[in-house]
Amino acid sequence: MGSDAGRKIVVLRLGHRPERDKRITTHVALVARAFGASSMMLTVKDSGIEERIRKVNENFGGDFSVVFRPDWKGAIRGFDGQTVHLTMYGEKLPDAVEKLKRDGDILVIVGAEKVPADVYAMADFNVSVGNQPHSEVSALAIFLDRLLDRAWERSETSGKLRIIPSPRGKHVIGTDKEKTV
Ligand code: SAM
Repeated sequence: MGSDAGRKIVVLRLGHRPERDKRITTHVALVARAFGASSMMLTVKDSGIEERIRKVNENFGGDFSVVFRPDWKGAIRGFDGQTVHLTMYGEKLPDAVEKLKRDGDILVIVGAEKVPADVYAMADFNVSVGNQPHSEVSALAIFLDRLLDRAWERSETSGKLRIIPSPRGKHVIGTDKEKTV
């Protein structure tokens, strides 16, 4: 769980509207956490999302954090690493991953509705996961999978709960109890 060895992946979620985007932004954070990022920056404070991720950390381990960062331009400019904006207009994912793979920390920028035009110029890479519109959740999952060479397949959870993969039913081991559903 967490970032690939020696490499920090941070997700910047732009355009989060607490009333409308609560669920999808939570999914962005869950995907970021499960697929190898270490934190997500939100330009709007949303304690509901922070609390949900805190509970997932407690149950499944890791220290993924949700950070309030209102100044998104400062976040991009001040990032000590490469910045990648996921957009259907960008260069092809396999080409970008080849350029990025051996380098250090990465800031991954995903939008909600319309992304400000400045982002396209500010990001080091504008990267498409196919050239059709789909979702920030799917784009982020596929990007992290390719960037980190399927690191999620090798990661182990370390929290209060552990799921035993089973072809049928739910097999969950807790620290003080075992439950099969
Ligand atoms: N129409 C919006 C725009 O032009 O900025 C995009 C809205 S889309 C629902 C929300 C986010 O999903 C985008 O900002 C982008 O980060 C991501 N996204 C959607 N389709 C994508 C694709 N094919 N490749 C990469 N990212 C994508």
